[in-house]
Amino acid sequence: MAGMTSSARPLLNRRLAEFGTTIFAEMSALALRTGAINLGQGFPDTDGPEEVREAAVRALRDGRGNQYPPGPGVPELRAAIAAHQLRRYGLSFDPDTEVLVTAGATEAIAAALLALLEPGDEVVALEPYYDSYAASIAMAGGTRVPVTLRPHEGGFRLDLDELRAAVTARTRLLLINTPHNPTGTVLTRAELAAIAELAVERDLLVVTDEVYEHLVFDEGGHLPLATFPGMRERTVTIGSAGKTFSFTGWKVGWVTANGPLVSAVRTAKQYLTYVSAGPFQYAIAEALRLPDSYFENFRADLRRKRDLLGDGLRAAGFEVYQPQGTYFITTDITPFGEKDAYAFCRALPERCGVVAIPNSVFYDDPGAGRSQVRFTFCKKDDVLQEAAGRLQQLAS
Ligand SMILES: *Cc1c(COP(=O)(O)O)cnc(C)c1O
Repeated sequence: MAGMTSSARPLLNRRLAEFGTTIFAEMSALALRTGAINLGQGFPDTDGPEEVREAAVRALRDGRGNQYPPGPGVPELRAAIAAHQLRRYGLSFDPDTEVLVTAGATEAIAAALLALLEPGDEVVALEPYYDSYAASIAMAGGTRVPVTLRPHEGGFRLDLDELRAAVTARTRLLLINTPHNPTGTVLTRAELAAIAELAVERDLLVVTDEVYEHLVFDEGGHLPLATFPGMRERTVTIGSAGKTFSFTGWKVGWVTANGPLVSAVRTAKQYLTYVSAGPFQYAIAEALRLPDSYFENFRADLRRKRDLLGDGLRAAGFEVYQPQGTYFITTDITPFGEKDAYAFCRALPERCGVVAIPNSVFYDDPGAGRSQVRFTFCKKDDVLQEAAGRLQQLAS
């Protein structure tokens, strides 16, 4: 029988048994097969800045990073990450001991959990989850405890009482994501302050995925959890060049935290990939020093795209939860008299030539997000316009 050895023991271990192929593989294959517009997986269809690409070419030609770079990352990039955290947020990190370059944010998340969890430790995480969280917690032997973001006044909100109630004597860490994928929620200052108070009071570690730090659309901008009182010494902050500079294929991510935390995460990381993306690290060092205008234009551009797709989805009849950040819009299909997002997404390419993602796969309790569908808007304007046009068929 497929998947079985002669002793009938499953090949895939128990920790991973519940994880199949990611939804993105399934839906991207569907997009290819049907020729539909893929608003499923969140990758830009326009590459990042020309000068950053040129910097990568220069590094390759000059022989910088073509051999194993240093384990913690090249010094130029670590210095640029530290300078970015200081300039943007007033957070001071020693580039030699408090910054770690990783193979994307994905490896940073996995390495942090593998380093910080003992089997049986509980991880309180915001649900719906980013794709890799549940599997990374499982690989580390942890137990995930969801706190569900719930629809509220046109967006999603965190219930702080539910968060407090989720913490037990076995809780080791809080896994936070703001701006939040897939809902587009940006946690407010009050919510972040409450999370910080809880972490301090219960002496919890915090891993915070802030890969969309430059995609906060409203006034005030991004608030890193590490800036709140008592948080710097207990927080592992994760960033990604993929999301900030539109180079998702380069897989350059990073961790900033105090020395003991970075040292712990590095111990796990060095046996996962050891190092990665040598020449690209030099290019991202230059990217992080781009003038403020780059970051402002990037955000303004994505905000405009959000509104373009959001208007189209509303006109087509979706209930739209307005995202305050990221490059995703979560919708609800109940207005069409439909309840099953998975079935809806499987049929959508044939119905009108668009691929989207059912949020139900990001919940422990699929019932919670059963009628939610996520669309990405990090695509060219004409692609978004064409997709919006096609979706109007649902309105008739
Ligand atoms: C894309 C994404 C990641 C992964 O980032 P990489 O740098 O590509 O590994 C992690 N967390 C969230 C919330 C994301 O959307």
